[in-house]
Amino acid sequence: MANAGEVEPIPVVPATLGEGAIWNAAVQCLQWIDIIGQRVFTYDPATSENRGYDVGQKVGTVVPRAHGGLMLALQEGFASFDADTGRVALLPRPPEHDPQVVRFNDGKCDPSGRFWAGTMALVKGPKPLGRLYRLDADGSIRVMLQDVGTSNGIAWSLDRRTLYFIDTPLLRVDAFDYDDVTGAIANRRTVISIPPGIGRPDGSTLDAEGMLWIAMYDGWAATRWNPRTGELLQTVRLPVARVTSCAFGGPELDTLFLTSAREKLSEEQLAAQPLAGGLFRVRPGVRGVPAFSYQG
Ligand code: CA
Repeated sequence: MANAGEVEPIPVVPATLGEGAIWNAAVQCLQWIDIIGQRVFTYDPATSENRGYDVGQKVGTVVPRAHGGLMLALQEGFASFDADTGRVALLPRPPEHDPQVVRFNDGKCDPSGRFWAGTMALVKGPKPLGRLYRLDADGSIRVMLQDVGTSNGIAWSLDRRTLYFIDTPLLRVDAFDYDDVTGAIANRRTVISIPPGIGRPDGSTLDAEGMLWIAMYDGWAATRWNPRTGELLQTVRLPVARVTSCAFGGPELDTLFLTSAREKLSEEQLAAQPLAGGLFRVRPGVRGVPAFSYQG
């Protein structure tokens, strides 16, 4: 393990678009994905084994399931996934969701175990075509937000009263009042504005002090922000430009795991960042909080 504060590459086969880092406490492993490579990974820090599973279509996010196994948000919709058998079981597709036009992207579970995941257009256009969906434990699916560009960076505040959400092209973090009993959100407002020149906000996670960590796509960094003041508190530099997601893990939740991408990089750019698409870890001096699991 590297010294505190030092970013360490984890030896894995690079992903095209690595994403979706989340610590699965039940198995003490990091779950992550390659969206374009259509793969779900289970990385075990104790053995350094990184098991990959082909899920047959683009996968936007992975979350643990409280009763065992995993849940996925795939191009076509929500699905359960059994890593032992490799079986993917798609749930009924939301009627608004057209997988020819949009695909599922980032998502997380809320403190009550509902699975939130958003969509984004397959081909960039002038109009935001994505939505944010909520899958409840009873299997029902609701549209929570319309007109989303690229749905990313979902996290809940420590007091469970605020939902943080990143629509990447807007270059900001928005907050909503969140009702943990009903799962309703209201009162959208901007809490962090990303200044020019430091990359685009992608995946996010909360630390034990209530601060928000954000992976910066094309920013060569993970950043730590105070969502109450909008202030940038800390920058952890990485040897790759396209940092995509971050999650605290390890038995003490004191290690920040980071994914990255090598998609759309030129040969020259790849030569300058040969670790692009790889997995990284760093102990930034603060702990994370446990991720929530899907209760359905
Ligand atoms: Ca993302």
